[in-house]
Amino acid sequence: MSIKSNINVINGNLSSTCRLIAVSKTQPHEKIQQAYEAGQRIFGENKVQEMEQKFHALPKDIDWHLIGHLQTNKVKYITPFVSLIHSVDSVKLLEEINKQGKKIDRVVPCLLQVCIANEETKFGLDEKELLDLVAQFPVEFTHVKIMGLMGMATFTEDQEQIRKEFKKLKKLFDQIKNSPLPSAIEMKELSMGMSSDYIIGMEEGSTLVRIGTAIFGERNYNK
Ligand SMILES: *Cc1c(COP(=O)(O)O)cnc(C)c1O
Repeated sequence: MSIKSNINVINGNLSSTCRLIAVSKTQPHEKIQQAYEAGQRIFGENKVQEMEQKFHALPKDIDWHLIGHLQTNKVKYITPFVSLIHSVDSVKLLEEINKQGKKIDRVVPCLLQVCIANEETKFGLDEKELLDLVAQFPVEFTHVKIMGLMGMATFTEDQEQIRKEFKKLKKLFDQIKNSPLPSAIEMKELSMGMSSDYIIGMEEGSTLVRIGTAIFGERNYNK
């Protein structure tokens, strides 16, 4: 199947409230260009340098989303152009994004990454850290905008386990959305679902699915 037909199949499965992010990490420019020509405009990357390079080389109307773990010392390279940072997992990181946004007078859109999986290795705020941050959101964070939440389910074949974790994230999302919020927080986006579980993610209320393999095929990390 071609990249174009893969994108068409996925878009055919998505509801009108759920948008596709083409996860293009490790993919060469030609493949991204093919997806672009098929109409795709949102791309997700997990490495700062790779995303920066692709931003400069590829069409300017692409929305670049950073979906992977972000180190504070690399924030400054993406704040000028990133459309959404999905992976904010600490107050310290948010503080740095705010600082870099302030320097260039840009409010940087972010999602708070929540740890919903059973695995120790997954990044993200736990429930208490998330609720504390939202309830006591620092007034000095004037150059970040929290647009919602992101989560990754456990890597498992167990569909019910995945569904349970997505339900938990949706419940947190609704709980926060229905509480009094500062103007820096606007709960609009819920980023959950990848190639193997995006249908479940969508059924459980996802507004952004992050899909790589089902569009581009298996990744080749040796290039
Ligand atoms: C790589 C990656 C994806 C896409 O994974 P696929 O299984 O290839 O769809 C989604 N989200 C994050 C955070 C990723 O790092």
